[in-house]
Amino acid sequence: MRPRVGLTAGSPPAHLPSVLVEAADILVLPGAYWRAVWDAGGVPMILPPLPASGTAEALAGLDGLLLTGGPDPDPAHFGEEPRPGNGRIDPERDGWELALIRAALEVDLPLLAVCRGMQMLNVAAGGTVVQDLGERTGDVVKHRQAAPRWYPTHLVSIHGASLLRRILTGLEGDSEPFTLRVNSFHHQAVAEPAPGFLTTAVAADGVSEAIESDAHSFVLGVQWHPEAMWRRDEGSRNLFRGLVAAAHARRAGGMR
Ligand code: MN
Repeated sequence: MRPRVGLTAGSPPAHLPSVLVEAADILVLPGAYWRAVWDAGGVPMILPPLPASGTAEALAGLDGLLLTGGPDPDPAHFGEEPRPGNGRIDPERDGWELALIRAALEVDLPLLAVCRGMQMLNVAAGGTVVQDLGERTGDVVKHRQAAPRWYPTHLVSIHGASLLRRILTGLEGDSEPFTLRVNSFHHQAVAEPAPGFLTTAVAADGVSEAIESDAHSFVLGVQWHPEAMWRRDEGSRNLFRGLVAAAHARRAGGMR
């Protein structure tokens, strides 16, 4: 039986007229995410932002969690004042996801976090976020590519002794670090990894591109968008398959 993977979702992007958005009270989740989960062998279960008190009951029906992309985390959640380059904030989604992630980490639920998801994972576990990469000057990499979403544009260097490396390559054991070209649609990044988390991939300008937990079975965050690449890229498919395999193992083990 397919394991059930919860997918976070939120309010629509800012370029839609706000009067339409507020009047219609719409939930938004790009199809790329749930299609990738289905292709990898899971049942995608879309989670709206609920009251934080609902996390335990929501998680009880799930075998894994996919934290999707979206707007910027409110910097108040990591103890900073908003900088001028800070973007759109979705307070309802922030509150729900922080509670959901903390509850998921507590029960060691398999978790893959993409872009905003990786930042929220880090914040929920006590880390910080660079509010706007655009403030940096000098020899920096373009992290908001103008190329198509499926097209990888910049290199990341991946630690050889990481869950990320094993999942991407499908090979066990440790190896040499390797480089991979990924897509890039972000203006924020993980600054200080949360306690118990490691940075496992960096771009050429030092920007964090992946984190993972040392203390959990399968808790992984990537700053790029594998959901936009999986149809053409084996490594991207492996990320979703890795999540679904971990969710399947957990379900089979009756560890709920
Ligand atoms: Mn990037």
